[in-house]
Amino acid sequence: MKVTIDAERCQGHGRCYEVAPDVFTDDERGRGEVISAEVPVHLEDQVRSAVSACPEKAISIS
Ligand code: SF4
Repeated sequence: MKVTIDAERCQGHGRCYEVAPDVFTDDERGRGEVISAEVPVHLEDQVRSAVSACPEKAISIS
């Protein structure tokens, strides 16, 4: 699985790095950043939870 954040959609709610702290972190403005775009299998459920939790629908997986 690969994951990206659309920086234009992200509003910095912080849900992604609360739900999936092994996959996402925050930048200096509180907006989400992907730690590693290639997600290990054992973290995929975290990423799916973050996709559901993001109010801006800014997280994409493929
Ligand atoms: S939950 Fe969505 S809007 Fe909030 S910081 Fe993460 S990517 Fe951005």
